Amino acid sequence: MIIILKPHASKEEAQQLLRQIEAKGLKPLYMPGVERTVLGALGDERVLQSLHLESHPLVDEVKPILSAYKLVSRELYPIDTRVKIGRHAVGGDGFTVIAGPCAVESQAQLDRIADYLTAHPVAAIRGGAFKPRTSPYSFQGLGEEGLKILKTTSERSGLPTVSEVVDASDAELMARYVDCLQIGARNMQNFRLLEAVGKLDIPVLLKRGMCATIEELLLAAEYIVNAGNPKVILCERGIRTYETATRNTLDLNAVAYLKRKTHLPVLVDPSHGTGIRELVIPLTRAAAAVGADGIIVETHTNPAEALSDGHQNLDPQQFDDLMSSLKPFVEAAGRSLK
Ligand code: PEP
Ligand code: MN
Repeated sequence: MIIILKPHASKEEAQQLLRQIEAKGLKPLYMPGVERTVLGALGDERVLQSLHLESHPLVDEVKPILSAYKLVSRELYPIDTRVKIGRHAVGGDGFTVIAGPCAVESQAQLDRIADYLTAHPVAAIRGGAFKPRTSPYSFQGLGEEGLKILKTTSERSGLPTVSEVVDASDAELMARYVDCLQIGARNMQNFRLLEAVGKLDIPVLLKRGMCATIEELLLAAEYIVNAGNPKVILCERGIRTYETATRNTLDLNAVAYLKRKTHLPVLVDPSHGTGIRELVIPLTRAAAAVGADGIIVETHTNPAEALSDGHQNLDPQQFDDLMSSLKPFVEAAGRSLK
């Protein structure tokens, strides 16, 4: 429930009301604005009836939050949230490009990739140290060794890092090495993991599960914010449909829908979304046109030799082409590449 206070309501009076809301077992929220203070009460709203908020002398208006998700909804916070990865803000009028290999393979591999990424307006380098692979016989990642490589590359290049956390017990360790934790499609509804990253002070890139609805994605984000971490970035990475020509079906509907329903930034992953290198550039342009806040894209100096997802990785020349052909689309969408 959203409670809009009268202009004359003081901070102390607002706090008193919040204590009453909390005493009823609801989560109280305090949102002071320039002209009005807005309060939130999250939980079973029926217990608030005895407070008679509609006729309360401090209250101007009471509005229910209609969606199942609350903290991440635009109904509660109408203004776009910006989430910082290192010094770079995701969201607002910039268009964020996060790029790098699927997996961290060696120090030399990641440094070579960082060397060409730094020639472009790239916000952060990605690379998995813990890889959730469909087959147990596929490369599983270098583990903590991969995290050390990410940190060394970051210190050398100045690029902040994004890497996937696959288990709640790794979250704290990973937060010491990287600048943003990715939760992958296979873990979007691993609720213990969502709560674990919700207790940390680090940005989280939450990917949509391959069979998850948009509402399930938003409720997964709600878990993280509700646990105490508001720094969530959503990512559309394609869903499973009856189509088999592409690895997934990149759901750009979801991007337009999410931008209306949530204040959180929304990225697109055209690499996993298509699974086909040649489709990455056109779908990146489409992502910019539809209003995404940026992309996360896979790139490698030698895709043929990549230990995972080589078929969808761009080589340095293709990455150059992506960046130059993306610019006019980003500008047409009223944003700039940062
Ligand atoms: C990845 O980013 O390499 C990855 C495994 O992504 P997803 O969880 O979207 O499949
Ligand atoms: Mn991958």
